[in-house]
Amino acid sequence: MIVILKPNSTQEQKDKVISILKQYPVDLNISEGVECTLIGLVGDTSAVDIDRISTIDYIDKVMKVSEPFKKSNRKFHPDNTVIDVGGVKIGGEQVVVMAGPCSVESKEQMEETANGVKNAGARILRGGAFKPRSSPYSFQGLEEEGIELLEYAKDKTGMPIVTELLSANMVEKYADRVDIIQVGARNMQNFDLLRACGRTDKPILLKRGLSSTIEELLMSAEYIMAEGNPNVILCERGIRTFETYTRNTLDIGAVPALKRLSHLPVVIDPSHACGKAWMVPSLAKAAVAAGADGLIIEVHNCPECAKCDGQQSLTPADFQTLMAQLQIIAQVEGRTI
Ligand code: PEP
Ligand code: MN
Repeated sequence: MIVILKPNSTQEQKDKVISILKQYPVDLNISEGVECTLIGLVGDTSAVDIDRISTIDYIDKVMKVSEPFKKSNRKFHPDNTVIDVGGVKIGGEQVVVMAGPCSVESKEQMEETANGVKNAGARILRGGAFKPRSSPYSFQGLEEEGIELLEYAKDKTGMPIVTELLSANMVEKYADRVDIIQVGARNMQNFDLLRACGRTDKPILLKRGLSSTIEELLMSAEYIMAEGNPNVILCERGIRTFETYTRNTLDIGAVPALKRLSHLPVVIDPSHACGKAWMVPSLAKAAVAAGADGLIIEVHNCPECAKCDGQQSLTPADFQTLMAQLQIIAQVEGRTI
């Protein structure tokens, strides 16, 4: 970070700025020019409050020269982070596919869908017990009973489970009963929830907010990591743009961008990105070709009977066809699936 003082600042003003900056755990490099003074801050500048410093009268400009995310930054951690979820490794050579229904609805639905996705090669079972719906009148999930049905399906298939939790209280209550905690797009900046996730050691699937930038996504990951949990999986699930043909717009460029900026695994959710079952295979294939470490795909044993997101859910048969195609693309990328 560089702090530039206004031209002709007095020695007293310079000393005052220096004493303020010395409160932070950084080294200061002071360079006195003919017109102005530049102060370089070297070290961990994450605690430096730019807005506060910028309000000082005789400071002309404060410039960031490095990213504000530190623990998720590849610069400080060049190797990929590989997260072990009950023996399934996310971020390594294998592209990990998570699949299952949008919402957990019944024992029969979970059994049929879980068996279907497992036989097709999915490694992790998804299913929502608590559904963050846009309307309070829509199905909100089976809640506790949904968690029980996920545990039942895990027991039957041996697949680890991922489910969304909506609040810090829920994290405290249910963290031990799930293998991956999903933070939904609508909650990406629920900082209380992020901190609670950071206080567990569970892998966290952090979904990008509907209108969030890549840097904001990484700063949310930083909230979790700053509390001591390094197990964050980033998920691009489509962002809101002017286009209305698709539910959201899949930012495929986010995959190479996030892989370059961060060492954390990157997963794509093609289902919520497009909202149309027939389009999901194309986006899933593009995601693997772009270097995603995993996919999370909605699959339902009976999409037309689904209580949530049936229009974007694949049947187990369509999912199986897709998995065979993904295998070839993964191979081209030097990966397994
Ligand atoms: C979901 O995965 O079921 C979901 C609600 O996703 P998102 O938060 O991305 O909308
Ligand atoms: Mn859904």
